[in-house]
Amino acid sequence: MRPALLPLLLVIGCAGGTPETPAPKTPAAAGKDAASAGPSADEARAFAKTVDTELRALWVAQATAAWAYETDITDEHEAALVAVDEKLMAWLTVNIPKAAKLSKAKGLEPDIQRQLDLLTRATSLPAPADPDRRKKLAEISAKLSGMYGKGKYCTGEGDAQVCRDLGELSEVLAKAEDWDAQLDAWQGWRTVSPAMKPMYEEFVALGNEGAKTIGYDDVGVLWRSGYDMSPVEAEAETERLWMQVKPLYEQLHCHVRAKLVEKYGADKIAADGLIPAHVTGNMWAQSWENLYPMLEPYPGQPDLDVSKALADWDAKKIVRTGESFFTSMGMDPMPATFWDRSMFEKPEDKEVVCHASAWDVQLNDDQRIKMCIKPTLDDLVTIHHELGHNYYNHYYTSLPVLFQAGAHDGFHEGIGDTLVLSVTPTYLHKLGLLEEVSESDEAVLNKQMLDALQKLAFLPFGRMIDQWRWDVFSGKVKPDQWNAHWWKLRGQYQGVGAPMDRPADAFDPGAKYHIPANTPYLRYFYSHVLQFQFHDALCKASGHTGPLHTCSIHGSKEAGKRLSTMLAMGASKPWPDALDAVAGTRTMDATAMMTYFQPLMGWLKEQNKDRQCGWTKTGG
Ligand SMILES: [Zn+2]
Repeated sequence: MRPALLPLLLVIGCAGGTPETPAPKTPAAAGKDAASAGPSADEARAFAKTVDTELRALWVAQATAAWAYETDITDEHEAALVAVDEKLMAWLTVNIPKAAKLSKAKGLEPDIQRQLDLLTRATSLPAPADPDRRKKLAEISAKLSGMYGKGKYCTGEGDAQVCRDLGELSEVLAKAEDWDAQLDAWQGWRTVSPAMKPMYEEFVALGNEGAKTIGYDDVGVLWRSGYDMSPVEAEAETERLWMQVKPLYEQLHCHVRAKLVEKYGADKIAADGLIPAHVTGNMWAQSWENLYPMLEPYPGQPDLDVSKALADWDAKKIVRTGESFFTSMGMDPMPATFWDRSMFEKPEDKEVVCHASAWDVQLNDDQRIKMCIKPTLDDLVTIHHELGHNYYNHYYTSLPVLFQAGAHDGFHEGIGDTLVLSVTPTYLHKLGLLEEVSESDEAVLNKQMLDALQKLAFLPFGRMIDQWRWDVFSGKVKPDQWNAHWWKLRGQYQGVGAPMDRPADAFDPGAKYHIPANTPYLRYFYSHVLQFQFHDALCKASGHTGPLHTCSIHGSKEAGKRLSTMLAMGASKPWPDALDAVAGTRTMDATAMMTYFQPLMGWLKEQNKDRQCGWTKTGG
């Protein structure tokens, strides 16, 4: 995850940089076009230069305050963070419309033009021009996040009352044992969100008002404009990628549903219907790895249980191991300050936000990770993910501050995960974490099933979240239909349905963090597609032959060179240029994902041959 910045801002936060400013090629004459009344190129160049200085200072101040707060939660730290956030918000409110205007100047160099365009999209929630309405939006936004964060499901009365938070309710679902207990936990978490709905209506109206002031029809259009193509094209591109992987998802869905019918009975789950959302092992049915014990194709094969071997590793050793993957590819080590300034372990004496995140606090290669590392495979994987962010920051550190971001936001999320695709059993064996490695077909299928329950099961969820928001922000779906539309999309894309009739006041989207926190979600869909595409390209660069799922790019200098080249570009060029640098193509493509999962696809088809796959009903 990127640093958890305030909900109003989608700040490209974990960025790195030296105080270098763009080098505007200022022509001698200025203001010649005054008669045309349009902004002049000189004005725009000067503005871009000022922005780089001012925005850099504000982002550093914000990251400094946020770091202090998240590694030591106190009222003072919170107040300091709110103060700097307000300052940043005020600055953006003034300067985003300026950037929108100046970006229309004639004769601008592409890199100045691009910085101005990026500035207009530097927030995921543009504020209305009117200060009162802006304040209202900020308040609603903070309240929505707060309601989610403090959400609890309470049962019983008086002394017998028991309240459970998201973590405790999620544990009930993760165990995936008892139909009724899961149903109770699932619907219980969704009692937190109905109160958000009237606020979210206001939130949408005010956000859209802000979007219009900077030239976008609505907030959804603004979000879809961040991909170097038109908003309409971005939506079509997303659907195209989804259709590429849908056949594989349907096979996984078919098999999982059949196993769930076996477990819970055909009276509870229709053999040709939607999978009830509360039995997938996850609060949002977005990733199904908790069902692995039930779905392991060949129980008893050597699996990836490294927990025993990892148990006596300390946090630093786990991070060093992650770093050593990057350096094995000839990439730079993390700066020395990374080791002094990071928070790898939960401190005894302070409240902290344990949620893992990667930072460049001072935007001068001040890389840090904040995490409460436990010696598990999960956390070893997460460290690779976070380091992927730090390496991106590190390689684009000398760029103007607005270029210190991923080629698009899906790129930033996909770097560490790409390396994780090379954390094969053979690699874990090399690290001394696995005693025996089996390359048998059975072991391969076990590993593929686990991968698929995490990454493939996620795709339709990643696809539908922002579809819902695009439809909400555009007004295509009215508030009285919001919840029904949510379940329609859940049914259509995931083949997952609500396990019970939803109450009239239900606001189930609000029970997913990214809705009240207003974090765009398409990036995670794209990153899941891109990581396989990167993996495939880097495997080819490393000289790998043989099936894609057997490739590890560990130790490949050629792969490291390609990856560094792409990272160093940051957001300075349209993303197809960055993709071209690493993969020699300018189009996102899910073929590599399909190739990677070929063994599983064959196995699933065999399992499903006498089953009726797909689902006819949709929710709503
Ligand atoms: Zn991340």
